[in-house]
Amino acid sequence: MNALHRPVRMHIASVGVSKFCFLFSIAFCGLLLLLIPTLQPPARQVDLPQPRPQIRPTQTGPSHHTSAPAVPVHAGETDSAAGLNGSSAGQGGSMDTELTRNDERGRDSEHILERGALPGRNGGGLSGSRSNEPLELKDIFIAVKTTRKYHKSRLELLIQTWVSQAKEQTYMFTDGEDRELQMRTGANIINTNCSAAHTRQALCCKMSVEYDKFIESQRKWFCHMDDDNYVILPSLLRLLSSYHHSQDVYLGRPSLDHPIEAAERVKSDGSVSVKFWFATGGAGFCISRGLALKMSPWASLGNFISTAEKIRLPDDCTIGYIIEALLEVTLTQTQLFHSHLENLQKLPTDSVLEQVTLSYGGFENRRNVVSVVGGFSLAEDPTRFKTVHCLLYPDTDWCPKLKPRHRN
Ligand code: UDP
Ligand code: MN
Repeated sequence: MNALHRPVRMHIASVGVSKFCFLFSIAFCGLLLLLIPTLQPPARQVDLPQPRPQIRPTQTGPSHHTSAPAVPVHAGETDSAAGLNGSSAGQGGSMDTELTRNDERGRDSEHILERGALPGRNGGGLSGSRSNEPLELKDIFIAVKTTRKYHKSRLELLIQTWVSQAKEQTYMFTDGEDRELQMRTGANIINTNCSAAHTRQALCCKMSVEYDKFIESQRKWFCHMDDDNYVILPSLLRLLSSYHHSQDVYLGRPSLDHPIEAAERVKSDGSVSVKFWFATGGAGFCISRGLALKMSPWASLGNFISTAEKIRLPDDCTIGYIIEALLEVTLTQTQLFHSHLENLQKLPTDSVLEQVTLSYGGFENRRNVVSVVGGFSLAEDPTRFKTVHCLLYPDTDWCPKLKPRHRN
C-alpha cells in the first residue's frame, strides 16, 4: 500500500514544487523589471564643461585664427610634443624660476597666435550650461588690476568704454587713493594697500585681494583683467554660458606654447619640478566659482602670496600652478582672449568684435593695435578701444553719429 501510494504522493509533491517555482520566477521577473532602471549605467554627466559651438559660423579671410569659434581644448592635448619634449624638460635645471611678463614676451608668444585656433574637442552641440536661468552679466565678477600711475592714462579709458556697461560688477584693484576718480565716475575702485612696485610680491598681493573679494561677492565667475584690456562683454557672456560655474573651469590663453616648469615647493621640498600651463594675465582669464572655492587653501586670506613666494612665480603663473599642478584641473585654452604679446593687427577686422578681450601695445609698440574702422582716427583713438566701443554701442553719447543716408 505504501508502495502503491508513493507515486501519488510524489505527484502531488512535484505539482507543489513546480507551482512554487512558477510563482517564484514570476516574482523574480517582476523584481528584475523594477530594478532595471537602477541597474543601468549612470547617464552621461550633464554638467561637464562642454564647449558649445559658438558665435557665428561665418568664416572670415584667409587667416586661420579668425572669428572661428574658440574651441576650448585641454592644453595638454594640444601641444603634446612642443612643451613636454622641449629643452626645458630636463630636471635639475634652474628651478628657481624668476619669470616675468618680459620672459613670456621673449619666448614664442607669437607662435600661438600664428597657429590659430587650436584643434580640440568638439562639443558635439552640447550646451554645457544646463541650468535653466541664462547667465547674466551680474553673475560675473570682473577684476581689473591697475596701479596709481595708470589711473589717468589707462583706467579712465576703460571707465569711459566697456566698464560703463558693467559698472556694478567691475572692480578696479589699485594701490593708491583716488577719491576724485571714484566720485566723478562712480567706479568701484579698491585700494588694496599693496605696494605700487611692479614686483612679484606687489602683483600677487593684488591678486590675493581680487580673489578674496570675488569669494565674498557670491558671483558665479571670476574674470581677471589688466588695465590695458578691452572686454567685449557680449562675447564674454556667450563664452561663459557654454560652461557651468559649479564645474571646474579655468579659461584663458597661454603665452607660451609649452608648459612652464617650476620647483615643487608646496607639496615637496623643491627637489622635484612640476610642469603646468597657465593663462597669461595680460589677456585676461576666467575661473568658475566651483574651481575658485577649491583653490581656497592656497589662495584665500593671504595664502596666495605665500604660495607665490614658495614657487617664486608671478601672479598669473601662481594661479596656473594652483589649478593645474595642485588641483589637477586643466586649463581650457581659448583663442578669444588677447594680450599685446601678440600681433594684434593680425586679427581679421571682421572678427574683432567676436573676441572676448583685446589689448594694445605699450609705449614701445604703439602700432600693435587691433585694426578696426570707425569714427575715430588712429590719432584720436590710438588704442582703438573707443572705435571698438562705438561699433559695439553706437548709441553712446560721445560716439560719432552716422550721417543720414540720402534717399533716392
Ligand atoms: N601694474 C601694477 N603695478 C605696477 C605696474 C603695472 O599693478 O607697478 C599692472 C598694470 O596696471 C597692468 C598689469 O600690471 O594691469 C601689467 O602691466 P603692464 O601692462 O604695464 O605690463 P605688461 O603687460 O607688459 O606686463
Ligand atoms: Mn600690458
